[in-house]
Amino acid sequence: MSSSDTELIGTGLRKRTEKALNDPFLRAAVAYTTDKLRSGRLAAMEEFGDWEQWRSRAREIRAHTIAHLDYYLGQFADNVEKAGGIVHFCSTGAEAVDVFLKIARSKGAKLVAKGKSMVSEEMHLNHHLEQEGIRAIETDLGEYILQLARETPSHLIIPAIHKNKRQIADLFEEESGQPMPPETKALAGYARQKLREIFLEADIGLTGCNFGIAETGAITLVSNEGNGRMVTTLPKTHVVVMGMERLVPTYDDVEVMLNMLARSATGQKLTTYTSFITGPKRRGDLDGAEELHVIILDNGRSAQLGDPVFQEVLHCIRCAACLNVCPVYRHVGGYTYGSVYSGPIGAVLTPLLQQDMKEAGQLAYASSLCGACYEACPVKIPLHDMLVQLRARKVKLGLTPWTERAAFKIYATGFGNVKLYSWGAKLAHYAMKPMARGGQIRKAPGIFGGWTQSRFLPMKPKRSFRERWAELQRELQAEREKQLGGEDR
Ligand code: SF4
Repeated sequence: MSSSDTELIGTGLRKRTEKALNDPFLRAAVAYTTDKLRSGRLAAMEEFGDWEQWRSRAREIRAHTIAHLDYYLGQFADNVEKAGGIVHFCSTGAEAVDVFLKIARSKGAKLVAKGKSMVSEEMHLNHHLEQEGIRAIETDLGEYILQLARETPSHLIIPAIHKNKRQIADLFEEESGQPMPPETKALAGYARQKLREIFLEADIGLTGCNFGIAETGAITLVSNEGNGRMVTTLPKTHVVVMGMERLVPTYDDVEVMLNMLARSATGQKLTTYTSFITGPKRRGDLDGAEELHVIILDNGRSAQLGDPVFQEVLHCIRCAACLNVCPVYRHVGGYTYGSVYSGPIGAVLTPLLQQDMKEAGQLAYASSLCGACYEACPVKIPLHDMLVQLRARKVKLGLTPWTERAAFKIYATGFGNVKLYSWGAKLAHYAMKPMARGGQIRKAPGIFGGWTQSRFLPMKPKRSFRERWAELQRELQAEREKQLGGEDR
């Protein structure tokens, strides 16, 4: 199973959901890992103390940065260049691909070693490099496994969350032609050996950026595997691709954000490797790339600036805590969303970035609106409210099916008129009666059938609450009058 570019996001949503729900292995694998990440986060929050205060501080930093993004982008770009780097601002993914290809051609590059980068997924960079005859090898273990399987990430930080050791061993066996035991040590050893050759041979190292620090132009990178350090120091050229919102003003701010990111993502105090890269290698430096390019991508982000509802989506630090607690994600996994970003943040971000409410806007319905994502989010993004607002936007644009629009019109008319409501409720009781068994409908007809696919529909009672309440009032009144009559005698 893999995310497909050819299948429209919304159109295929139901089909992909059914497929995922009928895959017990996928559901168990996703639930197992998200449970572990979730309990790790809770323990780390507890141990850190004053979590709500830290959360508020992190939110303030992100809100301030995004509110002054133009200023901080300018400061960041100036400082990257002062440190000897080259900055490229790109409006679209296609533009960013062109810039990368130009750099690659100018270096005569044949091999690119990639660190983990969701923005490069957003640009579909591997596909473009392949067409250009340039090998791009993922060096994050999860991404490397998925590249062999020709799949895309299904989780923001654990890309191969849906694979087990046996499946990974099969992929490595196929690649090496050697038998491979499904054991962590053997599998990691094999990948390490293969990737070491890539680090040494690569012409370009490509990474994402967790945070750009405006006051110095430093790129902050976190990883648990150390591949980030290899990719940024061994190849002669280092190219960073980053979303335009991934900035913080100062080192003090990045300290807060790194604390929140590691704890929210994996429950660690700090990620194993945290690197700060300021410009290319300088005279006297023992390692580092000789040339540093920073590609800053807009791709629909600036359209959210100034939006009173959706600007906050740019506060996201991609920790994936919202995925790990989402009851929908935990049941269907990442591919069901059909987009690079999955889970609650993906359901909000994808239609906004793609500016497509028709197809991608369907993702707004891939949520139970329980609010668990908001509770888990270290920067307090109200994703559940945003999902409601996206649904409202879809309705306002007339993009919902006519049956749904008609049903809500009838519902609104009925609820706005007491007589109509009572009449409708009575009618509903008699209409449901022939289909009900033991007070429930187990298989509803037509458009109501979706409801009874996974639960029963309770029978509408013969008497409404209003009628029962009025009757109860009458009975109480009669009782009171009887008591008063007795006292008078
Ligand atoms: S929305 Fe919040 S919880 Fe979800 S990935 Fe972004 S920062 Fe993390």
